[in-house]
Amino acid sequence: MKEFGLFINGQWEAAKGGKTTQSINPATEEPWATVAVADREDARKAVAAAKKAHDAGVWRGTPKEERAEVLRKIAAGIGERAEELAAAEALDSGATIRKSTLADVPSTADTFLKFADALMADEEETVFEEAAPVPSRNIIRKEPIGVCVGIVPWNFPMLMASWKIAPALAAGNTVVIKPASNTPVTALLMGEICSQAGVPDGVVNVISGPGGSIGEELASHPDVGKVAFTGSTEVGRRIMQLASGTVKKVTLELGGKSPNIILDDADLDTAALAALFGTFFHQGQICESGTRVLVQKDQYDTFVEKMIAGSSKIQLGDTMDMMTSMGPLVSKTQYDTVENYVGVGKDEGAECVLGGSRPEGMEKGYYYSPTIFAGVDNKMRIAQEEIFGPVVSVIPYDDEADAVGIANDSMYGLGGAVWSQNEERALGVARQIETGTVWINDYHLLNARFPFGGYKQSGVGRELGAWGLHEYQEVKHIHVGENVPADQKIYFGMLFN
Ligand code: NAP
Ligand code: MG
Repeated sequence: MKEFGLFINGQWEAAKGGKTTQSINPATEEPWATVAVADREDARKAVAAAKKAHDAGVWRGTPKEERAEVLRKIAAGIGERAEELAAAEALDSGATIRKSTLADVPSTADTFLKFADALMADEEETVFEEAAPVPSRNIIRKEPIGVCVGIVPWNFPMLMASWKIAPALAAGNTVVIKPASNTPVTALLMGEICSQAGVPDGVVNVISGPGGSIGEELASHPDVGKVAFTGSTEVGRRIMQLASGTVKKVTLELGGKSPNIILDDADLDTAALAALFGTFFHQGQICESGTRVLVQKDQYDTFVEKMIAGSSKIQLGDTMDMMTSMGPLVSKTQYDTVENYVGVGKDEGAECVLGGSRPEGMEKGYYYSPTIFAGVDNKMRIAQEEIFGPVVSVIPYDDEADAVGIANDSMYGLGGAVWSQNEERALGVARQIETGTVWINDYHLLNARFPFGGYKQSGVGRELGAWGLHEYQEVKHIHVGENVPADQKIYFGMLFN
């Protein structure tokens, strides 16, 4: 069994209380690693380490060229340990080794590379000469915020940790990362990789422990300047409350119920596979999954049949087998949530035309079959609430305007897609969708150069790219006035006679 401590101030440590827990492999339900469990005292210690490093200026005082170089070394460090990281991600979270090798590891490394680029393209200081109201030179300066906290979910543990660490480092901050209790290992390893790449001690700290205690401690700690959170909308609301006590900056990336709109001129064969890829990739445990597939009513039955046929190409199995394309859900809790929602869908009168149960012959592991609901009305709970499993609702629409109306009739606004052979038409629809990302003729493709985040209750702020970098910066205006005697400071006349 592998063992992992907490990563604080550049070194591995046991939790102060000595507590540990076992991380479960969701494919086998067997423990595969022992991990230290931090308590509030450990959380305060991690914040203190981050604050000390910030105050000492060991990182924010490093020239940006050097900071960018360290980010690139982190990317290289991830590449060097690719196999170890891919395996740990699969064992910890139930990702297939195929996904962790082909997507998670390279995307995580790429996040550091793209933030190195974003940093180099960002102007640290911009100078404006102004004549009004008096002649002055105006310096607009970007500075780090200080201690940033990143609270990370279990669906993409390593990638989501990189989305918090990379921009924080690029902008010159120090960080404390709290991974999800189910999936702590790869985030912890990232702490070590950052350190080995030359990040000074105390700048990146990673501690695993319960959200209800250490998550709350971190999100309310007075020395923390910013909290970045990815997870459920419910906990997101709580984070906002906790952060409000000391008016911290907050970015939130929350739930979704994203529309995948199949226009009537789409290539239906491709779109049907896309509808499956949009919902069943990583067992549907993706915040921007296209869980509401909108299909024109004349094409509806044909389309549902194509989806059912296409699902036979999905292979469930051992996550460590490169041929497996779909693994288990992350936990028993998540399995129960999915099972419960399938019951809700049936009770609401939707028709379960595929799946709806544990796959036959798979007794061990939190596996759930790809599940398709037809005859779904957008008002149903299965169309409004995030399920976070392999369950897709196929919803009929009358015409384009109706499709847009249904797409936007959601408290969420994270992702979505439009499928059409007419790009202009698809663009016209994409512009009307109230979500932070819209794909045309693609799904799930994120790029660390471009912003990601949600409208409405899917979030606050944006991650990735220049937009993501700015969320980790304070902006200072330095006004440099003329060095002239009082009688030339004309505005003094408003007070002095
Ligand atoms: P969650 O509770 O929102 O967990 C996300 C992170 O927040 C974890 O690190 C968790 O720690 C932490 N946390 C929990 N309560 C906290 C609190 N009071 N203060 C500070 N941090 C706290 O998500 P979940 O319960 O694991 O999953 C529930 C649902 O959330 C899913 O079914 C799905 O709908 C949604 N979800 C969305 C995303 C996304 O990418 N947007 C990702 C995951 C889940 P612990 O692990 O220690 O509890
Ligand atoms: Mg686990």
